[in-house]
Amino acid sequence: ATIPQFLEPGQRSKPGDLAVVLLARDSYEPLILEHSTGAVDGYAEGATLNTRFGSFPHSTLLDIPWGSQVRASAVDTGSRGRKRRRDDSGDDASTPALEDTEGTATPTSAPAKKAVTASSGFIHILRPSPELWTYSLPHRTQVVYTPDYSYILNRIRARPGTRIIEAGAGSGSFTHASVRAVYNGAPKSDDDRKGKVFSFEFNEARFRKMEEEVESHSLKDFVSIKHRDVYKEGFLVDGKSPMASAVFLDLPAPWKAIRHLSRRRPQDMEQDPNDDSEWVSPLDPRKTAMICTFSPCIEQVIQTVSDLRKLGWVEVDMVEVSNRRLVSQRDRIGSYLPKEKGANPNPADVTEALSKLREVNQKTREFTRIKANRGEEGQNDQMDVDGSNSEREPNANNKLDESSTEKSWMQGRLVHRPEAELKSHTSYLVFATLPPEWSEEDEAAAFAKWPCGN
Ligand code: SAM
Repeated sequence: ATIPQFLEPGQRSKPGDLAVVLLARDSYEPLILEHSTGAVDGYAEGATLNTRFGSFPHSTLLDIPWGSQVRASAVDTGSRGRKRRRDDSGDDASTPALEDTEGTATPTSAPAKKAVTASSGFIHILRPSPELWTYSLPHRTQVVYTPDYSYILNRIRARPGTRIIEAGAGSGSFTHASVRAVYNGAPKSDDDRKGKVFSFEFNEARFRKMEEEVESHSLKDFVSIKHRDVYKEGFLVDGKSPMASAVFLDLPAPWKAIRHLSRRRPQDMEQDPNDDSEWVSPLDPRKTAMICTFSPCIEQVIQTVSDLRKLGWVEVDMVEVSNRRLVSQRDRIGSYLPKEKGANPNPADVTEALSKLREVNQKTREFTRIKANRGEEGQNDQMDVDGSNSEREPNANNKLDESSTEKSWMQGRLVHRPEAELKSHTSYLVFATLPPEWSEEDEAAAFAKWPCGN
């Protein structure tokens, strides 16, 4: 079996790898790295990533440690005399048409451009992880975000070796998180029962896209993806049981699917009169099964809970994950200088606020001038190497800070505010447990082992 690059990407980037490109704070794009020696799409350098921060031939992104910062290159697009546009300075002879390729991670979609003469920015090349994939994946549906899936995977006891059933696959956010949770190394043979995700999706376009992604992330041995309406056809794979012990359902009507997860045929389930085959459960009969369903409406929860109980599931409970990221910052409301140094004790003093505003404006002007001198304009929303944003927060290397004598406690009271936008889809999570199969023989065997059994 192949080593899944998504789960074991090694120390350095190589051709064929999935990388996550960090363009600016909270701006990520997935990229499959290509090894190319010859010209591709008119680029003399071969495959090239075009961003609003400049052009990056893949050759500059290969064989570098994950996490590296890469500067933009002057690339030869080999298309002199083709499409041009005027830049802000009015010089139409030196500007690449980057507006046309903004946010585009694939070189194939890049329009013809004139050669870039100066590099203008940088990116970071990050190793793939479920968290970064969730941030950067092409959304086909609502997805399950990290705060939810980390909690869910913990509650359904997903660990190396676990076999998980998942439906619907949607955009594959949960699939990628769950395969990492259950991965316990490459299996030695096809029959080797190691951790695996059995994923089902009934929308054909989404199913095809998932198939492609599973293949290109070398996850084929660890994720089985089937095109299926699970309400009608259940969860068997080629007529066989996936032998799962954990289930996650992100479906509009999960109660229609849980009927297929029973250990025995549900009493009210119709059977084809010509079909006398035995009921095959998709669950491992020797293991406790854990389930989680993900539903945005309480009506869906009520129906799911009712059906889980009827089908013998126990320990049914519901949770809502309410994720909050707290932003911690200094807030200047009034003076923090001691009284004896002439501070105005009135926290809402207008004169002081105006003088502070003037000071900030002057610092900003000076800072912009320093940056312009360094030729770094045009990257205002890019981060500095230390992760800070130099435009908004001059850092320790900046001349402005050196001239400042203000202690951090003077810069305002430390306050914590919740982030305005929450990257978490608020849904209700229903959890339940199905005890293992227990037969007369099991009872007798257990009784025989009991010291006072005879
Ligand atoms: N959990 C996914 C993720 O993290 O990316 C998102 C799932 S999305 C909200 C729900 C998916 O369920 C859709 O892609 C939809 O096509 C699929 N679906 C709905 N009914 C289905 C059914 N009966 N059988 C299989 N898939 C179904």
